[in-house]
Amino acid sequence: MTRPTRARISRAALAANLARVRAAAPGCRVIAVVKANAYGHGLLPVARALSRTDAYAVARVDEALALREAGLAHPVLLLEGPLEASDLEQAARFHLDLVVHAGEQLDMLAHYRGPARFTLWLKFDTGMNRLGFPLESFDAVMSRVQSLNCVARPLRLMTHLACADERGHPHTRRQLERIRAGLAVRGCDLSIANSAGILGLPEVLQAPTALAGAPATPCNWVRPGVMLYGISPLRGRDAGAVGLEPAMTFQTRLIALRHVVRGESVGYGATWTADRDTLIGIAAAGYGDGYPRSLPSGTPVLIGGHRAPLAGRISMDMLAIDLTEHPGTPAVGDCVTLWGRGLPVELVAEAAGTIPYELVCGITQRVAMELVD
Ligand SMILES: *Cc1c(COP(=O)(O)O)cnc(C)c1O
Repeated sequence: MTRPTRARISRAALAANLARVRAAAPGCRVIAVVKANAYGHGLLPVARALSRTDAYAVARVDEALALREAGLAHPVLLLEGPLEASDLEQAARFHLDLVVHAGEQLDMLAHYRGPARFTLWLKFDTGMNRLGFPLESFDAVMSRVQSLNCVARPLRLMTHLACADERGHPHTRRQLERIRAGLAVRGCDLSIANSAGILGLPEVLQAPTALAGAPATPCNWVRPGVMLYGISPLRGRDAGAVGLEPAMTFQTRLIALRHVVRGESVGYGATWTADRDTLIGIAAAGYGDGYPRSLPSGTPVLIGGHRAPLAGRISMDMLAIDLTEHPGTPAVGDCVTLWGRGLPVELVAEAAGTIPYELVCGITQRVAMELVD
């Protein structure tokens, strides 16, 4: 039997979301972020569906090598840069571009003796306080990099926003001020915006020189991740509201139906009790597939185009649904959508007390990945 639990990945949705990025960021170049197995959607199929991007970004060297082995020749950017000297050898061999955010990485480059000329994105910290050189060290970092032989010119600059998903956040204003004062004036290509920046902050999409009022015209590069997968990056707005199409639909099937009389409980811990005679459907997905156990009773799933609430705890391989009020006649074998088309992953993430990123990244290996047009 085919596996009942699958994630259908829509190529058309991926392509439409890339077009949405281009429309939102005219004149910018696009780095499609495909780290973490393309946010759980499958690295290679996603990368191929997004082949009209200008570049890809990944977090780990092995992800980059998989892109190269698949024959993709685009620029590939390592978002955390080289973590050890052997990463530099791989980067040289496979033509990977590097984010450089720390002195240790400059030391590594200083010790590199091979023939490669690396394209560097120098990452400066403007308020995320995670990775990046402090802005105050800008001149020192630039002059150190200028002295390295293995670095291609011109240099490129990058920073990351901490709060772009919340509209009007004062921290974003502070970061933008620091960018204007410290990064945008230098005449280098610049990359600021993740998905939330692309959709929520038109000012970061201007050419870097427009930000600073300087004459030359270096390019602005955007780094969309989550929006490519059709997930809204903006708090409180789902994909439809920002013109995105969900790329993943996570589905399983009903494998049993049972009548539970009033007063009986359902599932581990007996946390849910029937307050009336109840029709319960058992579906073949659980936390072993990446459907979070933290989802409470009442969380909706979709059966035959209608929502129905979870009843009781999620098991490893199964979940229970209260079908008593379902307007159709659910039957064993029916398709159950856990999130995706017709049931926003944003809503399910909210019910789980997390963000959609974590849900889609958490799909496990036993879930069949199916590519559709
Ligand atoms: C993951 C990542 C992105 C993409 O972020 P989204 O919120 O998914 O658009 C962009 N830039 C960096 C540095 C990242 O690590």
